[in-house]
Amino acid sequence: MDCPICKRLERTFESRCSTYIEASSSAYYRVSTRVAAYKNVEMERAKSDLQEHLLVCVSAAKVGHSGPGRHGANNKTAGQ
Ligand SMILES: [Zn+2]
Repeated sequence: MDCPICKRLERTFESRCSTYIEASSSAYYRVSTRVAAYKNVEMERAKSDLQEHLLVCVSAAKVGHSGPGRHGANNKTAGQ
């Protein structure tokens, strides 16, 4: 689990998360709810970016890999 993209996306999400929490909990929120809403959208976007990447990530794929795509070549027919 040493993917630089994962780390970058995780850092982006975490920083946006804390920015959103800051914006929504401080007096700033009272000044502009639109800014807080925008931060929320940014945070959600970062989260979905991360989740989308995890679907195709090589490091993450190692955990739940599927078997080799073998076709049913071994066709034993019990013919009469
Ligand atoms: Zn990755």
